[in-house]
Amino acid sequence: MLISLVVPIYNEQSGLTGFWQNLENCLADSDCQYEAVLVDDGSTDSSWEAINRLTIDSVIPIKAIRFSRNFGKEAAILAGLRAARGQAAVVMDADLQHPPSLIPQMIENWQNGKTKVVEAVKRKRQDESTLRRLGATLYYRLFNLSSGMKLDGASDFKLLDRAAIDQYTALPEVGRYFRGLTTWLGFESIAVEFDPPSRNAGESHWGAGHLLRLARSTIISFSSLPLRIVTWFGFAGIVFSLGLTIQTLWYKWQGYAEAGFPTVILLILVMGSMILLGLGLIGEYIAEIYREVKRRPVYIIAQSLSSPQETNVTDKKPG
Ligand code: UDP
Ligand code: MG
Repeated sequence: MLISLVVPIYNEQSGLTGFWQNLENCLADSDCQYEAVLVDDGSTDSSWEAINRLTIDSVIPIKAIRFSRNFGKEAAILAGLRAARGQAAVVMDADLQHPPSLIPQMIENWQNGKTKVVEAVKRKRQDESTLRRLGATLYYRLFNLSSGMKLDGASDFKLLDRAAIDQYTALPEVGRYFRGLTTWLGFESIAVEFDPPSRNAGESHWGAGHLLRLARSTIISFSSLPLRIVTWFGFAGIVFSLGLTIQTLWYKWQGYAEAGFPTVILLILVMGSMILLGLGLIGEYIAEIYREVKRRPVYIIAQSLSSPQETNVTDKKPG
């Protein structure tokens, strides 16, 4: 049985060899046959040279793909899954935060449990600042509330069966969210817990700004609830204004002097900001639609190469 290992790599020169050694050690006694798809997501350090060396030295046959520039982890995962030929694929990070020692257990669960997806779920969040943890909790709450999908503890460390790989790679969208879309596919899944260790080398690529953009775009692409909330606000505003109109008219007919200047200013401020907020939100959705209708490819491959022994892999993707 052939299992593909899909690894997105961006500026991992310092840790790649250590990662590979660890991986090969963990899989040495396994009964399965493996192939690896290493996707260099436009690294600016010497990751590609390190990958080149691995393709020659490695026991596990490697197919290496290099993007023309940095297209992001999601693009790299997609390219890796498209190139994978195994009956199942394991997607994992190259920084040892997704411990390779878990792979045999994931495969076992997949074979015994007959589920199409095996998810590695973080038992606790990585050592990170309180602010980051708070942000993550808030984000997962919001995501759950708006899309109805629970992703807490989810990671990109997953095993996908061939059926799930084919469905995932066939999805038409340009903007992708591996964690969310694999849940959206709806295949039965089984969870394997793990404690995420710290990075073996280098540092995380996600700054606060990047994470905020990610939160915004994933919620927008999975839910139209924010738009509906604007509509609800609109309705509430109409009801409120109607009440206020009736009250104002009533006062007028009663002959009360109108001392409503503060009210007018408040109303202008509140309505003005709500309208701007609504427009901004609609703009976000239009931007997302624009990105999708352009139908640009998710990534551009500049170069690809295979281990000499890669051609010996006999199991072919069915169909
Ligand atoms: N990665 C990538 N493209 C990017 C950023 C990251 O392919 O633009 C890869 C990176 O090399 C690593 C994995 O995605 O294998 C996870 O990245 P990182 O460790 O920076 O993320 P974190 O663990 O902090 O979520
Ligand atoms: Mg990491």
